[in-house]
Amino acid sequence: MGKNYYDILGVANGATDEEIKKAYRKLALTYHPDRNPGDREAEEKFKEINQAYQVLGDPQKRAGFDRFGTSDQSGAYDFGFTRNFDDIFGDLFNDFFGNTQRRRTRKGEDLRYNLEIEFEEAVFGVEKNIELPYEVKCSSCKGSRIEPGFQPTVCKTCNGRGQVRYTQGFFTINRTCEYCGGEGYFIKDPCKTCKGKGFVRTKKALKINVPPGVDTGIRLKMRGEGAQGPQDSVAGDLYIVLKVREHPIFEREGDDIYVHTEVDFPTVCLGGEITVPVLGGELNLKVPPGTSAEKVFRLKGHGVPKTNGYGRGDQFVHLHIAVPKTVTDRQRDLLEQLSRELRHNGDASRTTGFKEKFKEFFDWKE
Ligand SMILES: [Zn+2]
Ligand SMILES: [Zn+2]
Repeated sequence: MGKNYYDILGVANGATDEEIKKAYRKLALTYHPDRNPGDREAEEKFKEINQAYQVLGDPQKRAGFDRFGTSDQSGAYDFGFTRNFDDIFGDLFNDFFGNTQRRRTRKGEDLRYNLEIEFEEAVFGVEKNIELPYEVKCSSCKGSRIEPGFQPTVCKTCNGRGQVRYTQGFFTINRTCEYCGGEGYFIKDPCKTCKGKGFVRTKKALKINVPPGVDTGIRLKMRGEGAQGPQDSVAGDLYIVLKVREHPIFEREGDDIYVHTEVDFPTVCLGGEITVPVLGGELNLKVPPGTSAEKVFRLKGHGVPKTNGYGRGDQFVHLHIAVPKTVTDRQRDLLEQLSRELRHNGDASRTTGFKEKFKEFFDWKE
């Protein structure tokens, strides 16, 4: 079971955006690591709260959560495009507490993209063109967020340190400067091109080669196609998380395919040939005389190609006897004739042995 984000934030399922935001702020302040130094439990709780807000605070993600009721991060729901958890965590942290000690790595963010494909595309592989939302460093301010030619104003409260010291009881505590939000400076002239964000949003066209045999939940890693990192670092990776749509006829279990098909009574009795759908086409299947109604045929090698490239699974064909809802007078005559014949010869028991078992069970006397 996934976590219930509403429970974590202590709000009702139908809570308004404002209520969710309020609950989040209150909890986040209570469990903030600055207020609970060294408290692992509070830290975990703080993470949990942020995770919950990351979903419930976003209308699209919230709708997804309401629909699928899961916090599963492995691709169970489709949110389109999301940044990974650490980055969202960092963003929220910055938004509310203005912490300057944002996690800086030598690598850009890993990105995730949820891609939905058709059943047969998953079986045979496909090439997909996608457009990825992408952030690139603003070329005008080179990421500094300040309009070229201007300078930042140093915060007088913290003298540019971003933190202030204060004493409480026996302790001296460093706290984020509330005046400048921990930045240590103010930008009075934000870059006009990026509106002071330091980056601009754009789109990147990408070609994705989906190999044959993939299934829902499989992640394709595209090295270096993630977000750009800080200067002179490598870009992050892009993870394509696949979701395969259902097929109207075929059912899939691993590399095997299951299909149900109808056959008439004379064909199972006398034998014959039927046409069955297989992946990518049709196939003629020989039905031997005296085939039972529960017969399952196995078509070797007609299943899904194995992702390791070695061979394919099988297709299983379940037969169902088609029973006409109405019959013509002539059909009725023939069926009645057949029925009398079968009874007269006492042959019915030879078909499947069903009647024999029935007799034993009920001590049946004819
Ligand atoms: Zn800019
Ligand atoms: Zn300050």
